[in-house]
Amino acid sequence: MLPYLGKAMTNLFRKPSTEKFPVGDAPQAAERYRGRISYNPDVCVNCGMCMRVCAPQCMHRDIETLENGDQKITFTFDLTSCTFCGMCADFCSRHSITLTDDYMMVGTQPEDFIVTGSFIKKAPPPKPKLTPEQIAEMKAKAEAAKAAKAAAKAEEPKADA
Ligand code: SF4
Ligand code: SF4
Repeated sequence: MLPYLGKAMTNLFRKPSTEKFPVGDAPQAAERYRGRISYNPDVCVNCGMCMRVCAPQCMHRDIETLENGDQKITFTFDLTSCTFCGMCADFCSRHSITLTDDYMMVGTQPEDFIVTGSFIKKAPPPKPKLTPEQIAEMKAKAEAAKAAKAAAKAEEPKADA
């Protein structure tokens, strides 16, 4: 009984071991903590690697073709399925995804658990239209090259049998 009394008395004068949260400043997350995902669409190249390595498949990609031929590409992360494994960030060669130290993922709406971002992928420039003269010139050049190759081959010394 006495040892317990001693411990109780000591604890009466010790600082609490717990954080006074949510009173005061939020405590800092531990180093390399993997919290809320951050996605930077400005550096994303739409390679899709992050989607391939995400085991719970909590990423979604929308591709919308615009009137001018450009594509609007939107990546969406559903944090309710995310396991915060960090694989998407590890495999993103562009460092477009990072796992932040934000651990306060509380919310009342589904949107509170969605991270999304979009970027525009420009349509390739239209191929230049060749005139009939240019096509004829190209054909003539190809024929000449073919003839020159055949002539060179004919002049090659035949190997002794
Ligand atoms: S976020 Fe990274 S891995 Fe995912 S598509 Fe963009 S560049 Fe590729
Ligand atoms: S952290 Fe893991 S589970 Fe979450 S989106 Fe990235 S790969 Fe998927």
